[in-house]
Amino acid sequence: MTGRTSARGTRASGVGPASDQASSGRAAPDRARRAGTDCASPSAIREIARRLDEKYGPPRSTDFLKQVATDPVDTLIKTVLSQATNDRNSEQAFARLKQAFPSWEQVAAAQEDQIVGLIRIGGLGPQKAGRIKALLHAIKEQAGSYNLDFLAGMTTSEAWDFLMGLEGVGPKTAACTLLFAFGRPVFPVDTHIHRIARRLGLALEKGTAEKVQRKMQDLVPPDLSEPLHVNLIRLGRDTCHARKPDCEGCPLRDLCRSEDAGPGSYAQTSSHPS
Ligand code: SF4
Repeated sequence: MTGRTSARGTRASGVGPASDQASSGRAAPDRARRAGTDCASPSAIREIARRLDEKYGPPRSTDFLKQVATDPVDTLIKTVLSQATNDRNSEQAFARLKQAFPSWEQVAAAQEDQIVGLIRIGGLGPQKAGRIKALLHAIKEQAGSYNLDFLAGMTTSEAWDFLMGLEGVGPKTAACTLLFAFGRPVFPVDTHIHRIARRLGLALEKGTAEKVQRKMQDLVPPDLSEPLHVNLIRLGRDTCHARKPDCEGCPLRDLCRSEDAGPGSYAQTSSHPS
């Protein structure tokens, strides 16, 4: 049984024709700049999403977390396995785990070092194995079985509270599970998105990931939750690196408030108006 109950917003139904996006979206950051405000508005977010969509395209069905999951617990465990690694390694770690232990009950009963050996390819094996075991035990304790399908019958905020009440589940894991397993319009913030949001001025320098997630949740139009989440992570992986961002190749440079962004960025044009 699938956990999906609500159709997620799609670009076709939720964003509108490309020409509308281009005209209304492009104007928003300029208006924000002239008004001396930040670009943290839903219209500016649409423009960011539009440019990233132009660069990367929409999320692919082969993306690790987007692959059709018949079980929301799969998505939850995939989120744990996706931490600090790439999709290919996460996918292999997940496949090995499922091949050795086809049911979550079996994983819960397995020795932790067995799990570590199976998921080692994704890195952080001991931490991830411990988290997976803790999560599965928490699900069994709270839900009575290794199954989260019942969350489909809850409101998003009820399901959020349930997930956040599970030991080992933080805001990113809860948000990924709601977004990818149930199609709910929740916006997960990982380390890449947190960094980019700070550089773009969408979040305060000192805000925790949880605070950034709350702010982004308010800002991001529901139909953009998935594509923007996926494409910001792509940008973080191949362009907006933690140490040396490749700002010259970044489609968001003119919107960016980071000093790293250099000539042509928001950071420079707004402090040196001509
Ligand atoms: S301009 Fe540079 S710092 Fe700003 S978002 Fe792009 S890559 Fe990151």
